[in-house]
Amino acid sequence: MTDRSIDTYLNYDDLSKRLLQLAAEQPHIMQVKSIGKSFAQRDIWLVSLTQFSSGPANDKPALWIDANIHSSELVSSMAALNFIQWMLDNKNDADVQRCLETRTLYICPRVNPDGAEWALAPVPKLVRSGIRAYPYEEPLTDGIEVQDIDGDGRMLSMRIKDSNGAWKISEHDSRLMVRRNAIETGGSYYRLLPEGLIRNYDGFHIPPARKEQNLDFNRNFPVQWRNEQEQKGAGHYPVSEPEVRAVVDFISQHTNICAALSLHSYSGVLLRPYSFKADDQMPAEDLWLFQKIGQQGEQLTGYPAVSAYHDFRYHPQEVITGAMDDWIYEDSGRIAWTVELWSPHRQAGIKMNNFIDWYREHPFEDDLKLMQWNDTSLQGNGFVNWYSYSHPQLGEVELGGWDSLFNIWNPPPSQLQNEVDRLPKWLLWHTLITPRLEWLHCKSRKIDLGIFQLDVAVINSGWLPTQISQHALKNKLVRGVVFEIESDVNITFLQGQPRMETEQLHGRHDTPSSPNNWLGQNGDATNDRIRMQWLIQIEQGASVSITARHERAGTLHQKLFLE
Ligand SMILES: [Zn+2]
Repeated sequence: MTDRSIDTYLNYDDLSKRLLQLAAEQPHIMQVKSIGKSFAQRDIWLVSLTQFSSGPANDKPALWIDANIHSSELVSSMAALNFIQWMLDNKNDADVQRCLETRTLYICPRVNPDGAEWALAPVPKLVRSGIRAYPYEEPLTDGIEVQDIDGDGRMLSMRIKDSNGAWKISEHDSRLMVRRNAIETGGSYYRLLPEGLIRNYDGFHIPPARKEQNLDFNRNFPVQWRNEQEQKGAGHYPVSEPEVRAVVDFISQHTNICAALSLHSYSGVLLRPYSFKADDQMPAEDLWLFQKIGQQGEQLTGYPAVSAYHDFRYHPQEVITGAMDDWIYEDSGRIAWTVELWSPHRQAGIKMNNFIDWYREHPFEDDLKLMQWNDTSLQGNGFVNWYSYSHPQLGEVELGGWDSLFNIWNPPPSQLQNEVDRLPKWLLWHTLITPRLEWLHCKSRKIDLGIFQLDVAVINSGWLPTQISQHALKNKLVRGVVFEIESDVNITFLQGQPRMETEQLHGRHDTPSSPNNWLGQNGDATNDRIRMQWLIQIEQGASVSITARHERAGTLHQKLFLE
């Protein structure tokens, strides 16, 4: 049996091998295919999980999960792989079994294999997303280029003595740097720079060098897209990048996807749309729905569910557009989450209201807590104590600080399994709440010779309504249930049409907690089910195929012999 361990970060070859082996072992519930090629021509893998014997994947309501769209957020890939393995290993559990029989999971564990491969190299090269030079092809600008200069595979910080420096060594812990007070003079001060070399150093200026690769795939989705002048990393036009194109094509072509979760790191939060407008711009019903799903997420993952707009903005006057989750909700009214895994701060016992604000301003005690966490939980491996280094351009400097890639941005391998185990139960639950068409009955009755009545009824047995969101309903982003009658022989419709489109079917998602209040006084209406009847004239002994399908809630087929 394939090695299931999640105790190391797999590179592209090892991840590919693991996925293909798992699928080869259990082909009845797992398939792997490529949905496109990355810029460097690597296959972008898509895993489908479902009980194929109970119907094709595309006929069942589905959940989409993607990961690692951002190069260095490697824990997200491992979380996607872990979920796949968890589903396979628990396939006899009642809920997992029901999920595989009635639903589909589409999982893209590494949207951005090129960037991830750079992050996983022995000497990592870190870029936000892809490895294509962007926005310009020309060489880099002058300035400090972040790199591992002493060949130890780590990119740390440099501290350099400077009388006008902004930092001084903390008296509580000599590893930590603390800000110099506003009017303070006469001490020993330092300038902090990232570890690196200075391109075309003039002996005086040290500006940051522009990176060659500046794409951010999560700004390239076709929702409120803005160009490079307005938003960095967005690409030359919406969906310009092959990795994003592959995802957008697949999700657009698979209308059975009811919800999509994008896995990222770090900070330990479940983020919901919108990123670019306030909650009061969203139908209240949808906000309530996101809050209910988020509450379940909080319970099962331990991470708070918050709004991207209200609680996770990089600047109070700026918003993000062109993001995956906004595209999913805005464009097709499906549920979307951005899941930020791993929270070293929470592990260290730091309380924060807003992750982004914390980086700008936080009490020094929090730095001490983080260092305490390093010393105990990481056995001191997360923070490299300062050591002197003879820099070819700057002379004597010290290298040290947080070794962030596999401590702060991603968990160290020893804590990887624990971290990724937060997700499977919520992902399973999220899949099981999707709407699902089921037959209530599908029968025929002979009225006269060659004249038959067809009588068909379906229900939505899922918790979510078939339209998923109020936004989708209001803007007609999803069709109702469609019924079709076909036969090899000629049918004359005396009543009804060969194809009939009906309305949406209700779910139980908005059942009020009190059955007796003004909301519930009319009781539970039967709008979760629908019945259709036809009167047809057809050759005695022929058969008809009846299909009931809904873009999100799945497709049902039934054959009736008319005798
Ligand atoms: Zn990210």
